[in-house]
Amino acid sequence: MIYLDNAATTKPCAECVKAVNAAMESAFGNASSLHGLGTSSIQIIARARKTLLAAVTGTKKPFDGEVLFTSGATESNNTALLNVLHKAHPNGGKIISTAIEHPSVAKTLTRLEEHGFDVVRLSPKNYGDFVEALVNEVDENTVMISAMAVNNETGFAIDVPRLYKEVKRKNPRTLVHIDGVQGFLKVPLDGDLISVSGHKIHSTKGIGALFVKKGVKIEPLLSGGGQQNGLRSGTEPVELIAGFEAAVNAYGGNKEHFAALKSRLLERLAEMEDIGINSTEECVPNIVNFSVRGVRSEIMLHSLEEDGIYVSSGSACSKGKKSEVLPAFGVTDADADCAVRVSFCAKNSAEDVDKLCDKIAKTIERIRR
Ligand code: PMP
Repeated sequence: MIYLDNAATTKPCAECVKAVNAAMESAFGNASSLHGLGTSSIQIIARARKTLLAAVTGTKKPFDGEVLFTSGATESNNTALLNVLHKAHPNGGKIISTAIEHPSVAKTLTRLEEHGFDVVRLSPKNYGDFVEALVNEVDENTVMISAMAVNNETGFAIDVPRLYKEVKRKNPRTLVHIDGVQGFLKVPLDGDLISVSGHKIHSTKGIGALFVKKGVKIEPLLSGGGQQNGLRSGTEPVELIAGFEAAVNAYGGNKEHFAALKSRLLERLAEMEDIGINSTEECVPNIVNFSVRGVRSEIMLHSLEEDGIYVSSGSACSKGKKSEVLPAFGVTDADADCAVRVSFCAKNSAEDVDKLCDKIAKTIERIRR
């Protein structure tokens, strides 16, 4: 099997599997229990918190704030965004975002519009400097800005620390939320609220986190037993948290390796006719989106699968539906119909890329003939 769909999800690493198993065997206590088993769980969770706070910034300085464990980034994004409903905003207020967000942000923003918020969504295709464009929109009435660090379909990345700094300079009261799912451990992150997900970095599904900057007060999404300082009720899944920490510690992806794979892929694609590249230089090297004109995405996907090669058409979440995000990058409808997304992990090799390209070339020959 050649798995090239790591932006959809990743295989849990051996370290994660081992940590989950170990916690299930010996640290299954409820972190709220007063006995020793509860204490072991508390210790595992505390250590994981420290690891995540150190890892999220992508710099030597740990994140200055706290981290809540959630069921995944969908919950983290909903918690971050719906939180503004509870703040006193007499006129609704303005929220700035982008036209390339994941549905867990995009659809939550639509809900906020229904509650009277004025949501502005910018498309990268219209701006040379996207961060500058987002900052330019910030005014006195802007309650929140929500932007993804790295887009899941093309890999388009923004300079998140710059965005955070410049928004705060313009309006310190504007809350900055970053969907950091595809950027976590790959690019530097900063913000008042940052969402990440375990299953994109070789941990299990069902675990994610929301980072909350020191001094930022949020309202919980869930009511219940008051775990995690009352901010995220529900018994902490200590096994998944242990696995999440282990996956963060074991993460082996590096930019140079991904860049070498990307450049091999682009070289090979350049030898074929009528290919459109949808991932620009502003994109992270582990995600490459391209259109094989004349071959619809699902035909290509199934053809590749015959040889055990797994890629994606746009995002896994869109389940074969036409991408709503690619047009915001200026990709034509015809090219969006033929889009293929390849996303690498540390274990992928140049040989994987070659096998992928050999099969793409064969598929083109068969279909375009
Ligand atoms: N945001 C982005 C950018 C994503 O790629 C995903 C997963 N496809 C999510 C949010 C949702 O994450 P989860 O699967 O953990 O709910």
